[in-house]
Amino acid sequence: MKNPARVRFAPSPTGHVHLGSARTAMYDYLIAKQSGGQFVLRIEDTDQKRYVKGAEEELMSGLHWLGLDWDEGPDVGGEYGPYRQSERKEIYQKYARQLIEQGDAYYCFCTPERLKEVREKQNQEKQQPRYDRHCRDLSLAEADQRIKEGESHVVRFKTPLTGKTTVHDYVRGDITVDNALLDDYIIVKSDGLALYHLAAVVDDHLMKITHVIRGSEWLPTFPLHGMLHRAFGWQEPVWVHLSVFLKPSGKGKMSKRESADLLKDGKSIFLKDLKTLGYLPEAVNNWIALMGWSLDDHTEFFNLEDLVQHFSLDRLNPSPAAINFSKLDHFNGLHIRNKSVEELATLIKPYFLQNGYEVDDEKLRKIVPIIQERLVTLDDCLPFASFFFKDEVVPEAESLIAKKLTASESLKIAEDVLKILESLPDVSHEAAEQPMRDYIEASGYKAGQVFGLLRTAVTAQEVSPPLFESMEIIGKPTVIRRMEKAVELLRGLSEA
Ligand code: GLU
Repeated sequence: MKNPARVRFAPSPTGHVHLGSARTAMYDYLIAKQSGGQFVLRIEDTDQKRYVKGAEEELMSGLHWLGLDWDEGPDVGGEYGPYRQSERKEIYQKYARQLIEQGDAYYCFCTPERLKEVREKQNQEKQQPRYDRHCRDLSLAEADQRIKEGESHVVRFKTPLTGKTTVHDYVRGDITVDNALLDDYIIVKSDGLALYHLAAVVDDHLMKITHVIRGSEWLPTFPLHGMLHRAFGWQEPVWVHLSVFLKPSGKGKMSKRESADLLKDGKSIFLKDLKTLGYLPEAVNNWIALMGWSLDDHTEFFNLEDLVQHFSLDRLNPSPAAINFSKLDHFNGLHIRNKSVEELATLIKPYFLQNGYEVDDEKLRKIVPIIQERLVTLDDCLPFASFFFKDEVVPEAESLIAKKLTASESLKIAEDVLKILESLPDVSHEAAEQPMRDYIEASGYKAGQVFGLLRTAVTAQEVSPPLFESMEIIGKPTVIRRMEKAVELLRGLSEA
C-alpha cells in the first residue's frame, strides 16, 4: 500500500469478543502497520440498550493479548477524539441537521403504534415491510414547530425514490440496487442518539479513515452508507466486507447453549476462553488470519510480523469460512514448538503453580524439551508432566499389571527391574537403557510389558514423555522409591 492507511476497529461493547471481531481488528491492524499508518479503536456504544458493562475492558484486554495495539483510542487519546460515540452526540446532531436543511433527511413524528399498523397492512398485502414515508414531505418550519412543542421524533434519510445506487466493495466489486427497493432509514433515534449508519459515516470522515473493514452483515445497508457520504459530498473510504464465519456445525450464529457445549470440549469462539484453554495468541492470530485470507496455496505458518509483511486485501476470499478447531490445535502445536525452552518454560510455569506444585526452574527447563513436541494446548502440561513435581505418585494397583500377564508375573518383573535400577550408578538414558534391554532379552518378556510397567510405576500415567529422559530428570532416589511402591502394590494384588 503506497499511502499510510488510517484504519479503525469499531466494535460495539455488547458482549464477549469473538473470533469474527478479532479477525476484523487484526486485518485493520495489518493494513495500518504495513502502510505506516494508524490503527484506531473506536467504541460504538450508541445503542444503550445493548450495552454490556465490562465488555469494553474485555475487548481491550483481548486485543492486547493478541498484540493488536492501537495508536488512537478512548484510553490512549489521539487527534481525532473523543473515540467513544456516546461522547459525540452533538457532532452527529449537527450533521443530521445539515442533511435535513439540505433536503437529504427529514424529521419523522410517526408513533410506534402507527408504524405497527403500517407494517401489519403491508404484511397482509404481502408487501416488503418499510416506512410508508408519511412525514417525508412535511415542511421544515412545521417540523421545527412540532419539535418545539415537545413531540417525539426521529430523523430519517430521504432515500431517492427512483434511479439506482452503486457502491463498490473491494472484494466483491460494484453492488447496484434499485433505490425504489430501499427504505427511508432512521439515522437518529427518538432519544437523540445517532444510529450506526450516521454515526459511523460521520466518524469515518472526521477521523480521516481510509479503509472500512467490517463484517458482511453490513452489506444490506451498505448503499445507505454510500449515499450518506455522497449527500455530505465526502470522499468514501475503501469498503471491505469480510467473509462470514460459519459455526463448525453449520450456518448461523452460535447460540448460548452451543457455546457452552463447545466450552465443555475445551473449545470456544471467545477470546477470553481461548486464553484460559491454553491457546497461544500467536496461534489464534495465525488461525484467524487464514480464515478469509491466504498468501498462496501452501504457506501456513505466520506470526504477526510475517502477516504485516505479507497481508494484502487483494487476497481476501469472500466465501464463508467454517470455524475449524482442529486447525487451531494444529497451529497451537506449531507455535508451541516455535518457542525457545526459556519462553515455553515461562508460559507453562503458571499452570503448575496454580495447581499447587512447587516449581524448580532448572528442572522445568529440563522438562520442556521432552514435552514441547507433544503439547497441543499449554494446559496439557498438567496431565502430561505433573508427575515431575509430585513427591509421590500412586498408580492404581491394577494399572501396574503388564499386558497379557498376571499380577504375580508383573510382580516378578517389578522386583527384577527394581534390583537392576538399584545396581546402577544413575537412571539416565545411557546408564539404564542397555541393562533394561538385556533383561528383556534374558527374561523373554516383551519390551512393551516391561517398559509399560516401569512407566506406570514412575509416572502413574499410561502416556508420558520419553521414559528414560523422564527418569533422569526425576533422579534415582525417587525412581527407586516409586518402584518400591509398585512392588508393594503388586504384592498386595498377587497375595489377594
Ligand atoms: N459497531 C459495528 C459492529 O460492531 C461496527 C461495524 C463497522 O466496523 O463499521 O458491528
